[in-house]
Amino acid sequence: MAESRRVYLDHAATTPVHPEVVRVMDHYMLEAFGNPSSIHSFGREARKGMEEAREQVAALMGATPNEIFFTSGGTEADNLAVQGVARGRREVGDHIITSAVEHHAILHTCEYLEKEGFKVTYLPVDRFGRVDPDDVRKALTPRTILVTIMAANNEVGTIQPSAEIGRVVKANSQAYYHIDAVQTYGNWPVNVDDLHVDLMTVSSHKIYGPKGVGALYIRKGVKIVPLLFGGSHERKRRAGTEGVPGIVGFGKAAEIARETLDQRIAHNRALRDRLIAGLLEKIDYLTLNGHPTERLPNNVNVSVEFVEGESMLLNLDLKGIAASSGSACTSGSLEPSHVLLAMGVPPEVAHGSLRMTVGTDNTMDDIEYVIETLPEIVRRLRAMSPLYADKIKGRAAAPLTPAGEEHPHDV
Ligand code: PLP
Repeated sequence: MAESRRVYLDHAATTPVHPEVVRVMDHYMLEAFGNPSSIHSFGREARKGMEEAREQVAALMGATPNEIFFTSGGTEADNLAVQGVARGRREVGDHIITSAVEHHAILHTCEYLEKEGFKVTYLPVDRFGRVDPDDVRKALTPRTILVTIMAANNEVGTIQPSAEIGRVVKANSQAYYHIDAVQTYGNWPVNVDDLHVDLMTVSSHKIYGPKGVGALYIRKGVKIVPLLFGGSHERKRRAGTEGVPGIVGFGKAAEIARETLDQRIAHNRALRDRLIAGLLEKIDYLTLNGHPTERLPNNVNVSVEFVEGESMLLNLDLKGIAASSGSACTSGSLEPSHVLLAMGVPPEVAHGSLRMTVGTDNTMDDIEYVIETLPEIVRRLRAMSPLYADKIKGRAAAPLTPAGEEHPHDV
């Protein structure tokens, strides 16, 4: 019989739009629908809404509104930061530093720039997914024009030492410092001055705002060339009539996030901690991926040995539970997650990974339902696994963790 209960645990992929956000957007579609470049009252009202949104988005990161440039989302903001700085500073240098665990919006852009002759250093991470600021220092050269390292990882939730990396970059080079804060902004405090950033990417649909809108923070004085040419919108950094309803929705979502951030963190953390504890207690050969404490309050990422992540996902879905086996962009592909591999998780273990990200709409009851449901799914799947049969019979099943090492992701 079809399960009627539905539990959404994929907030790192996207979030539902907050009802207050929908209400605000409605007004800018039905009444204040003018083009913000028009001088008549319809245009002026749209512009006013957009400028208010700029203030709201800026306030959640400690920036000034004229440093906020709206884009079509996190992907475009990442591209604008990396390509825009690379092209804008070509005469200064040709070297970019990033990490092996970035979102593909950064990694694929860097790979593309390599084909154009730029040199890119992909820094390794430790077993928890963290970049060592000292590795950043060692990689800097007089030709380094950009360091781009995310604030927190979208798959495993590990929070990077962003402020420390920023200090290293500023003390030792002329490079600009960009962070992709798509998963962090609205979920965890981020302040552009505390983090010493020159550029920062944020996205609306991860913080209960609409899809298709994001922003790039560009510190005053930072030189960047645009990706799009056309009108002089967004002070010539991003041509094209602004998507006003999305932008005002993003602004409202940022305002709500700022007003409720402490409660949001406490709520998510309580659910996350119960979910981790319940799963560790009920499922053997299960390990937590990512940092045990330096992790986003909404992120649970586990590897369950002897089962496939995709099989768990499908079975959870049949029970009404929505999760992810990696980042939304790579699910559906059979490649193990580049993030887990960079952390040294063996490919067989990476294949059994599951990401569950909680949100404001989840309850403790939802979490108890998952803690009841997942162990039973794992038990059924393992009953069909020859590797697991060998394991419990004590036969020679090769250890899935490298010999002689404590399990890298136990907490
Ligand atoms: N960067 C990170 C870390 C993300 O998690 C995502 C989305 O999953 C993006 C960038 C892309 O953002 P958007 O979906 O707004 O294009």
